[in-house]
Amino acid sequence: MKADLHTHSTASDGQYTPSELVRLAKSRGLEVLALTDHDTTEGLAEAAQAGEALKLRVIRGMELSAKEYPTFHILGYGIDPEAPALAGLCQEMRRGRDERSLRMVRFLKEQGVEIALSEVEELAGGSIVGRPHFAQVLVRHGFVPNNRAAFDRYLDTEEFHRRVERPKPPARVCVETLKAAGGKVSLAHPYQIGVDDGALEGIVRELAGYGLDAIECYYPKYTAQQQDFYLRLAEKYGLHITGGSDFHGEKVKPDISLAALELELDWLVS
Ligand code: AMP
Ligand code: ZN
Ligand code: FE
Ligand code: FE
Repeated sequence: MKADLHTHSTASDGQYTPSELVRLAKSRGLEVLALTDHDTTEGLAEAAQAGEALKLRVIRGMELSAKEYPTFHILGYGIDPEAPALAGLCQEMRRGRDERSLRMVRFLKEQGVEIALSEVEELAGGSIVGRPHFAQVLVRHGFVPNNRAAFDRYLDTEEFHRRVERPKPPARVCVETLKAAGGKVSLAHPYQIGVDDGALEGIVRELAGYGLDAIECYYPKYTAQQQDFYLRLAEKYGLHITGGSDFHGEKVKPDISLAALELELDWLVS
Protein backbone atom coordinates (compact mmCIF):
# COMPACT_ATOMS: atom_id res chain seq x y z
CA MET A 1 0.00 0.00 0.00
CA LYS A 2 1.15 3.55 -0.68
CA ALA A 3 1.78 4.89 2.76
CA ASP A 4 3.47 7.52 4.89
CA LEU A 5 3.71 6.35 8.48
CA HIS A 6 5.50 9.30 10.06
CA THR A 7 3.91 12.76 9.99
CA HIS A 8 3.30 15.70 12.31
CA SER A 9 0.41 18.17 12.59
CA THR A 10 -0.44 21.31 14.56
CA ALA A 11 -1.22 19.01 17.49
CA SER A 12 2.57 19.06 17.97
CA ASP A 13 5.12 20.98 15.89
CA GLY A 14 3.73 20.48 12.39
CA GLN A 15 2.41 23.23 10.13
CA TYR A 16 -0.87 21.70 8.98
CA THR A 17 -3.93 20.74 10.99
CA PRO A 18 -4.75 17.03 11.07
CA SER A 19 -7.54 17.51 8.47
CA GLU A 20 -5.28 19.54 6.18
CA LEU A 21 -2.68 16.81 6.43
CA VAL A 22 -5.20 14.11 5.51
CA ARG A 23 -6.39 16.19 2.56
CA LEU A 24 -2.81 16.67 1.39
CA ALA A 25 -2.13 12.94 1.70
CA LYS A 26 -5.24 12.16 -0.33
CA SER A 27 -4.18 14.60 -3.04
CA ARG A 28 -0.77 12.91 -3.21
CA GLY A 29 -2.42 9.56 -3.87
CA LEU A 30 -1.62 7.94 -0.50
CA GLU A 31 -3.77 5.02 0.66
CA VAL A 32 -2.57 5.01 4.28
CA LEU A 33 -1.46 7.89 6.49
CA ALA A 34 -0.29 7.64 10.08
CA LEU A 35 -0.39 10.78 12.19
CA THR A 36 2.50 10.55 14.66
CA ASP A 37 2.68 13.75 16.65
CA HIS A 38 5.30 14.14 19.39
CA ASP A 39 4.09 12.95 22.78
CA THR A 40 0.41 13.70 22.13
CA THR A 41 -2.72 12.02 20.79
CA GLU A 42 -4.67 15.28 20.54
CA GLY A 43 -4.84 15.33 16.75
CA LEU A 44 -5.98 11.76 16.25
CA ALA A 45 -9.76 12.17 16.46
CA GLU A 46 -9.74 14.95 13.86
CA ALA A 47 -7.43 12.98 11.57
CA ALA A 48 -9.58 9.84 11.82
CA GLN A 49 -12.71 11.82 11.04
CA ALA A 50 -11.09 13.47 8.02
CA GLY A 51 -9.88 10.06 6.88
CA GLU A 52 -13.40 8.67 6.95
CA ALA A 53 -14.76 11.63 5.04
CA LEU A 54 -12.07 11.38 2.33
CA LYS A 55 -11.82 7.58 2.27
CA LEU A 56 -8.19 7.55 3.29
CA ARG A 57 -7.04 5.02 5.84
CA VAL A 58 -5.72 6.91 8.86
CA ILE A 59 -3.67 5.11 11.48
CA ARG A 60 -3.82 6.61 14.95
CA GLY A 61 -0.18 7.00 15.89
CA MET A 62 2.24 9.00 17.98
CA GLU A 63 6.00 9.48 18.43
CA LEU A 64 7.33 9.26 21.97
CA SER A 65 10.74 10.58 23.03
CA ALA A 66 12.72 8.20 25.23
CA LYS A 67 15.36 9.32 27.71
CA GLU A 68 18.43 7.18 27.02
CA TYR A 69 19.73 9.34 24.15
CA PRO A 70 19.10 12.98 23.11
CA THR A 71 17.13 11.80 20.05
CA PHE A 72 15.61 8.37 20.66
CA HIS A 73 12.09 8.17 19.24
CA ILE A 74 9.55 5.38 19.41
CA LEU A 75 6.53 5.27 17.11
CA GLY A 76 3.19 3.74 18.13
CA TYR A 77 0.46 2.78 15.65
CA GLY A 78 -3.18 1.87 16.15
CA ILE A 79 -3.20 3.13 19.71
CA ASP A 80 -6.21 3.86 21.89
CA PRO A 81 -5.68 7.45 23.11
CA GLU A 82 -7.91 6.77 26.08
CA ALA A 83 -5.86 3.90 27.48
CA PRO A 84 -5.15 5.10 31.04
CA ALA A 85 -1.39 4.55 31.13
CA LEU A 86 -0.91 6.27 27.78
CA ALA A 87 -3.17 9.18 28.69
CA GLY A 88 -1.21 9.59 31.94
CA LEU A 89 2.13 9.50 30.14
CA CYS A 90 0.97 12.16 27.66
CA GLN A 91 -0.13 14.37 30.51
CA GLU A 92 3.23 13.99 32.22
CA MET A 93 5.08 14.80 29.00
CA ARG A 94 3.01 17.88 28.44
CA ARG A 95 3.89 19.10 31.93
CA GLY A 96 7.56 18.37 31.22
CA ARG A 97 7.38 20.43 28.03
CA ASP A 98 5.68 23.36 29.76
CA GLU A 99 8.42 23.45 32.39
CA ARG A 100 11.10 23.12 29.71
CA SER A 101 9.63 26.15 27.93
CA LEU A 102 10.20 28.28 31.03
CA ARG A 103 13.80 27.05 31.30
CA MET A 104 14.30 27.67 27.59
CA VAL A 105 13.26 31.30 27.82
CA ARG A 106 15.69 31.84 30.72
CA PHE A 107 18.44 29.93 28.91
CA LEU A 108 18.04 32.08 25.80
CA LYS A 109 17.93 35.28 27.85
CA GLU A 110 21.28 34.41 29.43
CA GLN A 111 22.68 34.37 25.93
CA GLY A 112 21.24 37.73 25.02
CA VAL A 113 18.24 36.36 23.17
CA GLU A 114 15.01 37.80 24.56
CA ILE A 115 11.80 36.27 23.35
CA ALA A 116 8.34 36.16 24.92
CA LEU A 117 7.02 32.74 25.85
CA SER A 118 3.55 34.01 24.97
CA GLU A 119 4.65 34.38 21.34
CA VAL A 120 5.96 30.82 21.22
CA GLU A 121 2.77 29.54 22.83
CA GLU A 122 0.64 31.49 20.42
CA LEU A 123 2.50 29.92 17.52
CA ALA A 124 1.85 26.50 19.04
CA GLY A 125 -1.83 27.42 19.18
CA GLY A 126 -2.48 25.88 22.58
CA SER A 127 -0.97 22.54 21.53
CA ILE A 128 2.25 21.18 22.94
CA VAL A 129 5.30 23.40 22.48
CA GLY A 130 8.21 21.89 20.58
CA ARG A 131 11.68 23.16 19.87
CA PRO A 132 10.70 23.96 16.25
CA HIS A 133 8.26 26.57 17.62
CA PHE A 134 11.13 28.25 19.44
CA ALA A 135 13.23 28.03 16.28
CA GLN A 136 10.55 29.78 14.24
CA VAL A 137 10.31 32.63 16.73
CA LEU A 138 14.12 33.02 16.79
CA VAL A 139 14.12 33.26 12.99
CA ARG A 140 11.17 35.67 12.96
CA HIS A 141 13.06 38.10 15.21
CA GLY A 142 16.31 37.83 13.30
CA PHE A 143 18.31 36.15 16.08
CA VAL A 144 19.28 33.41 13.61
CA PRO A 145 19.06 33.19 9.82
CA ASN A 146 17.13 29.89 9.72
CA ASN A 147 15.80 26.94 11.72
CA ARG A 148 18.97 25.00 11.30
CA ALA A 149 21.04 27.76 12.88
CA ALA A 150 18.52 27.98 15.74
CA PHE A 151 19.17 24.33 16.57
CA ASP A 152 22.92 24.49 16.00
CA ARG A 153 23.38 27.58 18.17
CA TYR A 154 20.77 27.18 20.88
CA LEU A 155 18.29 24.32 20.77
CA ASP A 156 20.47 21.27 20.14
CA THR A 157 23.68 22.12 21.95
CA GLU A 158 25.38 20.07 24.64
CA GLU A 159 24.42 22.77 27.14
CA PHE A 160 20.77 22.68 26.07
CA HIS A 161 20.62 18.92 26.61
CA ARG A 162 22.34 19.19 29.98
CA ARG A 163 20.50 22.18 31.44
CA VAL A 164 17.23 22.67 29.64
CA GLU A 165 15.96 19.38 28.25
CA ARG A 166 12.85 17.83 29.79
CA PRO A 167 12.48 14.55 31.66
CA LYS A 168 11.52 11.66 29.37
CA PRO A 169 10.44 8.10 30.09
CA PRO A 170 12.80 5.16 29.54
CA ALA A 171 12.39 3.40 26.18
CA ARG A 172 10.99 0.38 27.96
CA VAL A 173 8.13 2.46 29.34
CA CYS A 174 7.47 3.98 25.90
CA VAL A 175 7.23 0.57 24.23
CA GLU A 176 5.19 -1.06 26.98
CA THR A 177 2.77 1.87 27.31
CA LEU A 178 2.10 1.93 23.56
CA LYS A 179 1.59 -1.85 23.56
CA ALA A 180 -0.77 -1.62 26.55
CA ALA A 181 -2.76 0.94 24.53
CA GLY A 182 -3.25 -1.72 21.84
CA GLY A 183 -0.58 -0.35 19.54
CA LYS A 184 2.16 -1.72 17.34
CA VAL A 185 5.56 -0.18 17.96
CA SER A 186 8.35 0.83 15.58
CA LEU A 187 11.81 2.26 16.25
CA ALA A 188 11.95 5.69 14.53
CA HIS A 189 14.93 6.92 12.44
CA PRO A 190 17.55 4.77 14.24
CA TYR A 191 20.54 6.78 12.95
CA GLN A 192 19.41 9.74 15.06
CA ILE A 193 20.23 7.78 18.20
CA GLY A 194 23.81 8.42 17.18
CA VAL A 195 25.41 5.10 18.13
CA ASP A 196 27.45 2.64 16.06
CA ASP A 197 25.94 -0.40 14.37
CA GLY A 198 26.85 -2.80 17.16
CA ALA A 199 25.27 -0.65 19.85
CA LEU A 200 22.20 -0.10 17.68
CA GLU A 201 21.78 -3.83 17.29
CA GLY A 202 21.91 -4.11 21.07
CA ILE A 203 19.15 -1.50 21.39
CA VAL A 204 16.98 -3.30 18.83
CA ARG A 205 17.48 -6.62 20.63
CA GLU A 206 16.53 -5.05 23.95
CA LEU A 207 13.45 -3.28 22.56
CA ALA A 208 12.39 -6.50 20.79
CA GLY A 209 12.37 -8.05 24.25
CA TYR A 210 9.84 -5.41 25.35
CA GLY A 211 7.60 -6.11 22.35
CA LEU A 212 8.97 -3.89 19.54
CA ASP A 213 7.15 -4.82 16.30
CA ALA A 214 9.04 -2.96 13.58
CA ILE A 215 11.91 -0.73 12.50
CA GLU A 216 11.51 2.44 10.44
CA CYS A 217 13.57 1.20 7.49
CA TYR A 218 12.56 3.88 4.98
CA TYR A 219 13.17 7.55 5.72
CA PRO A 220 14.25 10.30 3.32
CA LYS A 221 17.49 11.12 5.12
CA TYR A 222 18.97 7.61 5.23
CA THR A 223 22.00 6.66 3.21
CA ALA A 224 21.70 3.44 1.20
CA GLN A 225 23.97 1.75 3.76
CA GLN A 226 21.81 2.80 6.69
CA GLN A 227 18.66 1.55 4.97
CA ASP A 228 20.33 -1.80 4.19
CA PHE A 229 21.47 -2.20 7.77
CA TYR A 230 18.00 -1.49 9.19
CA LEU A 231 16.42 -3.94 6.74
CA ARG A 232 18.91 -6.60 7.82
CA LEU A 233 18.22 -5.90 11.49
CA ALA A 234 14.46 -6.20 10.89
CA GLU A 235 15.00 -9.53 9.16
CA LYS A 236 17.34 -10.84 11.85
CA TYR A 237 14.99 -9.99 14.73
CA GLY A 238 11.77 -10.91 12.92
CA LEU A 239 10.49 -7.33 12.89
CA HIS A 240 8.18 -5.63 10.41
CA ILE A 241 9.22 -2.73 8.18
CA THR A 242 7.79 0.76 8.45
CA GLY A 243 8.70 3.97 6.71
CA GLY A 244 7.74 7.59 6.63
CA SER A 245 8.82 11.09 5.71
CA ASP A 246 8.67 12.85 9.10
CA PHE A 247 6.73 15.55 7.27
CA HIS A 248 6.18 18.70 9.38
CA GLY A 249 5.17 21.11 6.57
CA GLU A 250 7.53 23.20 4.46
CA LYS A 251 7.62 26.09 6.94
CA VAL A 252 9.00 23.81 9.67
CA LYS A 253 11.17 21.45 7.60
CA PRO A 254 11.58 22.93 4.14
CA ASP A 255 13.35 19.93 2.65
CA ILE A 256 10.79 17.25 3.56
CA SER A 257 7.58 16.43 1.69
CA LEU A 258 5.06 13.63 2.21
CA ALA A 259 6.24 10.22 1.02
CA ALA A 260 4.31 7.55 -0.88
CA LEU A 261 6.11 4.39 0.19
CA GLU A 262 5.07 0.96 -1.02
CA LEU A 263 4.75 -0.96 2.26
CA GLU A 264 3.36 -4.35 3.22
CA LEU A 265 0.91 -3.46 5.98
CA ASP A 266 -1.26 -6.55 6.54
CA TRP A 267 0.13 -6.75 10.07
CA LEU A 268 -0.97 -3.19 10.81
CA VAL A 269 -4.23 -2.48 9.00
CA SER A 270 -7.14 -4.90 8.83
P1 AMP B 1 11.12 18.48 20.87
O1 AMP B 1 10.35 17.20 20.85
O2 AMP B 1 10.26 19.64 21.20
O3 AMP B 1 12.35 18.43 21.68
O4 AMP B 1 11.60 18.76 19.37
C1 AMP B 1 11.78 17.73 18.48
C2 AMP B 1 11.74 18.33 17.08
O5 AMP B 1 12.89 19.12 16.89
C3 AMP B 1 11.72 17.27 15.97
O6 AMP B 1 10.84 17.68 14.96
C4 AMP B 1 13.12 17.31 15.46
O7 AMP B 1 13.20 16.98 14.09
C5 AMP B 1 13.53 18.75 15.67
N1 AMP B 1 15.00 18.79 15.84
C6 AMP B 1 15.72 18.26 16.84
N2 AMP B 1 17.05 18.50 16.67
C7 AMP B 1 17.13 19.23 15.51
C8 AMP B 1 18.22 19.80 14.76
N3 AMP B 1 19.49 19.69 15.18
N4 AMP B 1 17.92 20.46 13.63
C9 AMP B 1 16.64 20.61 13.20
N5 AMP B 1 15.58 20.08 13.84
C10 AMP B 1 15.82 19.41 14.98
ZN1 ZN C 1 8.70 17.44 15.22
FE1 FE D 1 11.56 11.87 15.51
FE1 FE E 1 8.92 12.84 13.78
